[in-house]
Amino acid sequence: MTQSSLRSATAARPGARDVKKVPFVELYDGRLQGVVSSGSDIQRVYVSFFEAGTRDFSCSTNNNRPCGGLGGSYPCNHLRELLDEAIEQYGIARVAAFLGMPGDLGQYQQLHDILRALGTSTRADSGTIFSRFLGDLALLELPADSAPLHTAAWF
Ligand SMILES: [Zn+2]
Repeated sequence: MTQSSLRSATAARPGARDVKKVPFVELYDGRLQGVVSSGSDIQRVYVSFFEAGTRDFSCSTNNNRPCGGLGGSYPCNHLRELLDEAIEQYGIARVAAFLGMPGDLGQYQQLHDILRALGTSTRADSGTIFSRFLGDLALLELPADSAPLHTAAWF
């Protein structure tokens, strides 16, 4: 997904979490972490996180393979979508405070303000985060519409 299409998708649904694209996001144990659907393959998901404090980031498949879109110093689309959804869910002030963004937190008004002040990519095992996602899924009550069937398809 290009940056411009990401922006327009965000603008079209203000205040609404996109659970199909990012089925799981949480601020937990020093990480902003979650699970992001693959843009191209509905069977594949990415496990992504940002570390609080260092603001280093990681993205890999649920089979622990590194994300091909993660080149080093700039986060991939999955990480950007995860951050975008975290801002929708928690508000940017809480996200900026949780991540330990430098300087006056009031300067962080939108996604790109945070993207500009990140660390670098790091590798870490994604299994713990994915297990938490599965535990979260097990607690979900399925709403009447068909959207959660995508998540069920991963089993
Ligand atoms: Zn990625």
